[in-house]
Amino acid sequence: MSKFTKRGVVLPLMKEPACSRPIVDIPVPAQVVVPLVAGDGTACRPAAGSYETVLRGEPLGLLEGSETPAVYAPVTGVLSDLREMTHPLLGDISCAVLDGMAGKEEKTEKAEKRDLSALTAEEILAAARAAGIVDELDGSLLADKLESWLDTDPYLLGADGTEQEPYSSSAWAVLGEAADEVSEGLGLAARAAGAIDCHIAIRQKGKQRKELAKRAPGRLICTVHGKYPAVPEPRSAVLPVRTVGVQACRALYRACAYGEPQCDCVVTVAGDAVANPQNVRVPTGTLVEDLLRFCGLSSNPSYIILGDAMTGVAITQTDIAIIPGIACVLALTVRPQPKTRTCVGCGRCVRACHADLLPFEIMRRMDNMQYERLSSLLPEECDGCGACSYVCPAGLDVTAKVLEARDAHGTIFLKWGDGDDF
Ligand code: SF4
Ligand code: SF4
Repeated sequence: MSKFTKRGVVLPLMKEPACSRPIVDIPVPAQVVVPLVAGDGTACRPAAGSYETVLRGEPLGLLEGSETPAVYAPVTGVLSDLREMTHPLLGDISCAVLDGMAGKEEKTEKAEKRDLSALTAEEILAAARAAGIVDELDGSLLADKLESWLDTDPYLLGADGTEQEPYSSSAWAVLGEAADEVSEGLGLAARAAGAIDCHIAIRQKGKQRKELAKRAPGRLICTVHGKYPAVPEPRSAVLPVRTVGVQACRALYRACAYGEPQCDCVVTVAGDAVANPQNVRVPTGTLVEDLLRFCGLSSNPSYIILGDAMTGVAITQTDIAIIPGIACVLALTVRPQPKTRTCVGCGRCVRACHADLLPFEIMRRMDNMQYERLSSLLPEECDGCGACSYVCPAGLDVTAKVLEARDAHGTIFLKWGDGDDF
């Protein structure tokens, strides 16, 4: 199934038919369960009382100890409950349950567009922060991410529309719907983060690329070649590239131009158990089960995955809230995976690793509790791309072990010392 040469892997493309269809809006769900957590993970308290009606876009969560809104109502509804949830990406969190009131959205005057050319970096960052924009690429708060890049060495900023994993096409769908807004948002992000230049990176070439260039005039569109995970950079790039999500760029444009908070996200729903694979715009807090019901199931899924096939996490419950860091949900009847055996030392994981790591050796040292001998293997360089697990003929989840080593780096090394003799 996979081929590899130097680094990375060639993945099958399973994007049809979702990628050829326009974005569909899910009807307002009967209930949304909105995490009361700011984009940087800070816990919030409810901004409304029990059974109060909250309008779409109004504050729903305030930062603890202040009156600063950080979570916004994704639909107009009644705050009917507060609920605890163990979320696969956020951990144990409190959520506000809003009973959706379909058709009750207040008709407000369309806000006048602000002059974006006059906005300073500080104003753009403030707008991103006020809108609570989360970057779908990594689930981080966009304002924090952009601010951390200010005053660093020169770099290029890319809106990553490459969609390199097998099923996802939400970035393509958003570019198809609003390339102009993505392009303007990217320009604002580059200004706010002090990037030298910016570009939109895609996988497509030919007619699709030309079409996109027409709809985002003046913006460099670059086609990214190479194996997964390819760097979303122009061929001629001499500077390092940093990336933001296409959806985050669009949300930044809407926040700066109209003062809109981020209330929804576009999610690819796909997999062989889905009757109607498509890209769906859902309010934040929509439950996975409602999203799957909307798209229909053609058979009973054995696996439901939050995220795509390479980096997603399998879930066993479907009452999980969709948040902006989730751009794909898969329902699969089978998950192609060899029966788990012990490592055969084939070295495929090494050849697949674009970060030049020795994944099998990191895994071996983790398994043997040789924590003091991990540091020279640089597990912190792993970005969790999943390529090592994908190519492993023994069916081992090598990625999980490397990520465990990476994320426990501080505690493991402190506990065991750093006297590496590898
Ligand atoms: S998940 Fe980490 S170790 Fe595995 S191939 Fe990707 S970067 Fe390398
Ligand atoms: S972990 Fe898997 S891919 Fe890596 S050497 Fe062992 S068997 Fe081969």
